[in-house]
Amino acid sequence: MDYKKYITVVEDWPKEGVRFKDITTLMDNGPAYKSAVDEIVSYAKEKEVDLIVGPEARGFIVGCPVSYALEIGFAPVRKEGKLPREVIKVSYGLEYGENVLTIHKDAIKPGQRVLITDDLLATGGTIEATIKLVEELGGVVVGCAFLIELTYLNGKDKLEGYDVLTLMQY
Ligand code: AMP
Repeated sequence: MDYKKYITVVEDWPKEGVRFKDITTLMDNGPAYKSAVDEIVSYAKEKEVDLIVGPEARGFIVGCPVSYALEIGFAPVRKEGKLPREVIKVSYGLEYGENVLTIHKDAIKPGQRVLITDDLLATGGTIEATIKLVEELGGVVVGCAFLIELTYLNGKDKLEGYDVLTLMQY
């Protein structure tokens, strides 16, 4: 399916110079959303995934329907202060400042085969941090799936050695 026609590109949002890829217009279209999820479900089956892990908030939109379809769990990665029990955390640099991501300490069993999902791969910082959390808990990252890849930001360089699926490239 040509998913790009369902993505709305918003110029200069949230700040000047950014071409924001709005996936809500894809989610709005039932068949397009389902088809995108189905592709990731097939990929997850191929990789014999035990658990999906996704960073807030759009990683949930992509990952939760996949976990539902496969009857496997979904573990959320959230910003600091959002998860109620014991967490491990990782911080990573943003263009300005830094971000901290957390996951519940008991979210992953050692050896579990994990698929990481998010809406979009830009610089790869978010996914690199998410991989660190998964691996610290003993999970095995068998794949990373995104709706969109911004190829000009070379996020895949940070994911060397990991298998990556992207449904659209800009
Ligand atoms: P990064 O850590 O640089 O790979 O950034 C990934 C996160 O930032 C993703 O979860 C996206 O939701 C968001 N993001 C970055 N750039 C864009 C963009 N141009 N349009 C929409 N979302 C973006």
